[in-house]
Amino acid sequence: MALDSQIAPNNLQFLAERPRPQRGTYFVQTWGCQMNEEDSEQLCASLEQIGFTPATTIQEAQVVLLNTCSVRKKPEDKAFSLLGFLEKQKKARPDMVIGVCGCMAQIRCDDIKRRAPHVDFVLGTGQITQASSLVEEALVARKFRSRLDLPERKGAVVEDIPQRHIRRTPKLKAFVPIQYGCDKFCTFCIVPTTRGRERSRPTEDILEEIRGLAGQGTKEVTLLGQTVNSYGKNLAEGRVPFSDLLWQISEIEGIERIRYTSPYPRDFKSDLIDTIRDCPKVMEHVHMPLQSGDDEMLKAMKRQYSVASFREIVAELREKIPGVGITTDIIVGFPGETDEQFENTLATVEQVGFDGAYMFIYSPRPGTPAATMPQLGYDLKLGRLERLTELQNRISRERNAAQIGQTFEVLIEGHSPREKELLMGYSREFRQIRFPGSTERVGRIAKVRVTQAHQWGLSGELL
Ligand code: SF4
Repeated sequence: MALDSQIAPNNLQFLAERPRPQRGTYFVQTWGCQMNEEDSEQLCASLEQIGFTPATTIQEAQVVLLNTCSVRKKPEDKAFSLLGFLEKQKKARPDMVIGVCGCMAQIRCDDIKRRAPHVDFVLGTGQITQASSLVEEALVARKFRSRLDLPERKGAVVEDIPQRHIRRTPKLKAFVPIQYGCDKFCTFCIVPTTRGRERSRPTEDILEEIRGLAGQGTKEVTLLGQTVNSYGKNLAEGRVPFSDLLWQISEIEGIERIRYTSPYPRDFKSDLIDTIRDCPKVMEHVHMPLQSGDDEMLKAMKRQYSVASFREIVAELREKIPGVGITTDIIVGFPGETDEQFENTLATVEQVGFDGAYMFIYSPRPGTPAATMPQLGYDLKLGRLERLTELQNRISRERNAAQIGQTFEVLIEGHSPREKELLMGYSREFRQIRFPGSTERVGRIAKVRVTQAHQWGLSGELL
């Protein structure tokens, strides 16, 4: 069975407070975004705190947790397919515990219970640290359980920030959630329903976690939030602008690079652009979702910006930060998208010249306003995706070709998974670069000159 993004449990071992008696083994299967990957680390920590150890394969694990994604239909289908496989496993090993966590658990609890009665529990996005108590309960008495509470109201939700297990295995690069939920309610998106209203983590909590990471050798942090640049509202300490948070993190010794994803265009103001330019540790890369290059479509999606205002941000970024890397997300085939509106997206993509893009076919998410709108046919949507992909691939190739001869500062992450004899890393502009070099350089920041360009990134030589 092909599994999307298998979390390698050995990379996710957290340091327990004290030695625990050894129990069985666990396996966490993850789909979806970086926030989900981060949540999976928390799930692992929660299980290791009660003595479970990572299994090498899903087949041998006593406890299997599926951390699911509902942003598109495909990962939901994969989760149900894996649950079918696990049903057979559980018949052979009745002591197995199966839990479904994450966004699909949050909104499809009844479906899961009906279609997969062998599941022991479902756990929503706000309660991931309760995984261990649900596993303990399932081991004692077999009965379906669910924990799905989410903060309901806008404001007064800071106290609902999940408790975090923040002690983890040393890593060169780490994700740090700074904000949970979302208040934007784009018509295609299920996230405000699955993750609740927007709430920011207290600044001191974030700084403390990052100080701890720096102490363990982390050099690069990626700050996570659904609209990460709207961070800092409704905090007990008063409003903390996102740019202030970046400056505060930059004072932490040992942290050398700071990234964040994903900013919301309407909230992308000049103070943030100035911070990217002026703060030496903030990387010169912006991943800013466009979604559509047509104003009518943006309105139908309830995105709160226009194509012109998006392009103004890009222009200011490029004027103040020459060489900045800009990437995006785009949806094609949103309900009602006409040929002309799709052509406007192609034209915007051509004019902006993104370094890279994640491009998706719209898929209706039950419970969202767009799911009730008249839908376009799949073949039409697929044809549009192919045209957009072809265009973006050509632009990426051209933009990469323009980097030949340039020198970039690269954090060396390790050997390239595809060409094992080469080292690889990312530049401050988030350009992937591969180059010859010895293993002892891993973990260091080095200058690399680009000698070749490809669609996926660059090849070069260490200086
Ligand atoms: S900004 Fe829109 S697309 Fe992003 S998480 Fe919020 S509702 Fe979803």
